[in-house]
Amino acid sequence: MRIGVLAAQGAFVEHIDHLHHLGVEAFPVRLLQELKGIDGLIIPGGESTTISRLMVEYSLTSEIKKLGEQGLPIFGTCAGMILLASEITGGNNLTDKPGTRLDLMDIRVKRNAFGRQRESFETELTIPVLGKKTFPGIFIRAPLIEQVKSGEILARLDNGTIVAAQQGRLLVSAFHPELTDDPRFHHYFLDIAGGHN
Ligand code: GLN
Repeated sequence: MRIGVLAAQGAFVEHIDHLHHLGVEAFPVRLLQELKGIDGLIIPGGESTTISRLMVEYSLTSEIKKLGEQGLPIFGTCAGMILLASEITGGNNLTDKPGTRLDLMDIRVKRNAFGRQRESFETELTIPVLGKKTFPGIFIRAPLIEQVKSGEILARLDNGTIVAAQQGRLLVSAFHPELTDDPRFHHYFLDIAGGHN
């Protein structure tokens, strides 16, 4: 299996490390031709407006959108989730212009949704699809999911806030599984990419 990790900006190295530990061929994607023949794509966290701008500059946006529509498994973490969403609240600037994001997944997300004190925090999450053991949720100026219009909710905070979802082969988390040493979220994505989930 070959998994590309969008390497425009943000935490892509950590995703690649996780995938290597799981024994998968994983590499950074910056150019259009690097999308050829991949079995899945990860869009990492970072700054969604910056990632969006670089994706447009490298002509990646429309090609990734096309591949996603054709069924390519895509996993978006944090800023990556914002770029996959069909609707964004909480200040979009660049990302609300047509053609600047992927608009593949039927969810509404809110950028920078956690107040100042809790801008970054860690909490143990119950994620039933990953098993009984809780998963370490690392949130960094994170968005939240206001609504999942179609698909499945995979995780919530204790107060009910939705923080992970899946729609077919598209997977998103508001938090950063790549910054933990728990491989289960990446493993779950690889199962999707391999056609098992
Ligand atoms: N706050 C960032 C944004 O809106 C996302 C933060 C992250 O990816 N860790 O793009």
